Amino acid sequence: MPDTYQNFRKTLLAGEASCRNVAEAYLNRARSRTDLNAFLQLFDESIQAAEKVDAKIRAGTQGKLAGLVLGVKDVIAMKDKRLTCGSKILGNFTSVYDATVIERLEQEDAVVIGKTNMDEFAMGSSTEYSAFGAVRNPVDTSRVPGGSSGGSAAAVAAGLCHAALGTDTGGSIRQPASFCGVVGLKPTYGRVSRYGLVAFASSFDVIGPFANSVYDVALLMEVIAGHDERDSTSADKPVPSYTSLLDRDAGKFKVGIAKEALSAGVADDVRQAVEKQINMLRSSGVEIKDVSIPHLDYTIPTYYILATAEASSNLERYDGARYGHRSGGVEELEDMYVDSRSEGFGPEVKRRIMLGTFVLSAGYYDAYYGKAQRVRRLIKRDFDDAFQNVDAIITPTAPTTAFKIGEKTSDPIQMYLSDIFTVSANLAGIPAVSLPVGRDSASLPIGLQLLGRQFEEDTILTLAHYIEQSLKS
Ligand code: GLN
Repeated sequence: MPDTYQNFRKTLLAGEASCRNVAEAYLNRARSRTDLNAFLQLFDESIQAAEKVDAKIRAGTQGKLAGLVLGVKDVIAMKDKRLTCGSKILGNFTSVYDATVIERLEQEDAVVIGKTNMDEFAMGSSTEYSAFGAVRNPVDTSRVPGGSSGGSAAAVAAGLCHAALGTDTGGSIRQPASFCGVVGLKPTYGRVSRYGLVAFASSFDVIGPFANSVYDVALLMEVIAGHDERDSTSADKPVPSYTSLLDRDAGKFKVGIAKEALSAGVADDVRQAVEKQINMLRSSGVEIKDVSIPHLDYTIPTYYILATAEASSNLERYDGARYGHRSGGVEELEDMYVDSRSEGFGPEVKRRIMLGTFVLSAGYYDAYYGKAQRVRRLIKRDFDDAFQNVDAIITPTAPTTAFKIGEKTSDPIQMYLSDIFTVSANLAGIPAVSLPVGRDSASLPIGLQLLGRQFEEDTILTLAHYIEQSLKS
């Protein structure tokens, strides 16, 4: 069973462990699991960084994440490290600066041991669309870990690091957390700085943590959340002490069940596992109410119009001229653009760029992009209405457990549908957490999702913690 940082910290501060040794042990374990393909790079230098944290512990000046061994999705910039985004087009690109989240984590003495694999530019639900090969699910290596942050989820589940950072544009933290049996939080849009995050769909993207416990996720949030003047969309709101709120009485919250999310299309084992937790909450005195998200059926098409539109514009910058892959042997400027992009991008990214360009084109803009923006508003309103009556909403994280490698790559729509319960949180900008609540008949992890009001991560974390603790007893 992979260790939590909370447990490790106790032994560390009791003088029974060292950061150096733990960093080395995790690096060795990561090297012994190259079959998973979870890491794209591992940093030997992290041993020296860990030694510095040991010195701080001796001096009593260590930060709140001292010795936390971390994996970072390779779409987040780290100074002087390669930043590939899982794409050939950035295969040799090195970042010249640190993302804000990295600065904050390192200030609190977290130790980053490597960059994790991902679907190219975070487009995908299985991490099979990485230019550097698919990631395997440590629970069953014939299956996908989910995506697009599949490397981060697999690394945490396999015990190759205490925790990891992922990003979530439509489900890319929660769905892989669910498939791999770990905890993953998508914060409120704007809660965590995006400075240093390579953009996919800027009005959806958010960075968030994976870990083996709700407590660890809450602790990481305390460090990465908060205003950053380098990201104008980051919210200037105080960050609560999430960890100290976890033990509040869960009975003071009202929880909603979205009936649309427990109907047809959800695997029986998944539905039963979620219903079991709903019954557990009810019998512990939590008030359970039915709520409705009437526009749930429109979330996937709306998301795939808006996210591809934003992506087509964000990905214009990869043209072979300024950075990244440049095709050789071309004479005309136009050929350089075309060839560099044709060679550098994989098929899913090309599909999205074409779709996004189409929905933004004159003549189709109103029918697709404009309409989708209006539907986004309606979905937001569905949640506003539901949150008048409840403090959190429960759904399965995904309709199924982890599928087989290769099962959905030939049918993009089937792949897109695995995000049916996750994309709505990104459309509405609200926080959502996935936590493991059992296994199906094939022993694959099942994830339960809790959605909350904007900036009320504390509520869903408290409820998630309550469910997690009740599963232990
Ligand atoms: N699976 C969704 C997509 O392919 C979401 C990806 C994400 O959250 N980055 O777009």
